[in-house]
Amino acid sequence: MKMVREIFVKSVLNKHKKRDEWFLDDYSLNPYQLCEFGCVYCYIHGSKYGGTKSLAVKVNAPLILQRELRKRAERKEYGFIALGSATEPWQPMEERYQVTRRCLEVIAKFRFPVHCLTKSTLILRDLDLLREIDRKAILPGDLKGLRGVLVTFSFSSLDEKIAKIFEPKAPSPEERLEALWRVKEEGFYAGIAYIPVLPFISDPDEQLEEMIKAAKEFSADYVFVGALTLYGSGKTAYYTILERHFPELLPKYKELFKFNQPNWEYQRRLEKKARELCKKYNVKYRIV
Ligand code: SF4
Repeated sequence: MKMVREIFVKSVLNKHKKRDEWFLDDYSLNPYQLCEFGCVYCYIHGSKYGGTKSLAVKVNAPLILQRELRKRAERKEYGFIALGSATEPWQPMEERYQVTRRCLEVIAKFRFPVHCLTKSTLILRDLDLLREIDRKAILPGDLKGLRGVLVTFSFSSLDEKIAKIFEPKAPSPEERLEALWRVKEEGFYAGIAYIPVLPFISDPDEQLEEMIKAAKEFSADYVFVGALTLYGSGKTAYYTILERHFPELLPKYKELFKFNQPNWEYQRRLEKKARELCKKYNVKYRIV
């Protein structure tokens, strides 16, 4: 088991200069630093934090959040809080620390809407608080038609073997789909982020179709599809795994990732195909 540091932070709520177009959040909140699930493609590997920071829980996050949200609520600066934009809020250590749960209590108290981004089935533990937030949240004026809680489960492939290679410690795709089903049964607004789609592994048309078909079958309200980004030491780590499991793909990746992202035509094809399939299966592409 990895060592977890308990740290105290001075601030925990980040206010964005501009609302995120896809996820609709004006704020983000990460109760943990780094993540136990260890996805090979996780952006944190390549970022400046990946090498220097260690797994940690922000033990005073709920207290600091209370102070920060009180001020924002007094100024009526309501907006979606993305819970888990950089790390998994319901990673295994949350069972012990319950920091995410206590942050949700604060969010409910100050009536902010929340967008939960997760791969974890542990979110099901907190449906009681999410129900309260869904009922009470005050939405920003231009998003009034939406609900107070959005729940998005993320996937890079539906293939259990591929997921085991690239997301070694995360709940399996099947478990995530079942969790989505439960969340939908409870009446929440919920969807799927196929981010990142893995080039030459989970991006062929048939696999995209399987993904969007699964979204329909498990009652997702919306789907996002996004390409892989690789940079810095994250690119090296990803290539090491490719070399071990898919050595024949390395030259193709090197061609596609001359920069941090696949070229524009690749991204355009992915979005076009995803939109076509969403239309075919009658699932909304993106939330709005
Ligand atoms: S679950 Fe998310 S934050 Fe955790 S390692 Fe995977 S991609 Fe990174």
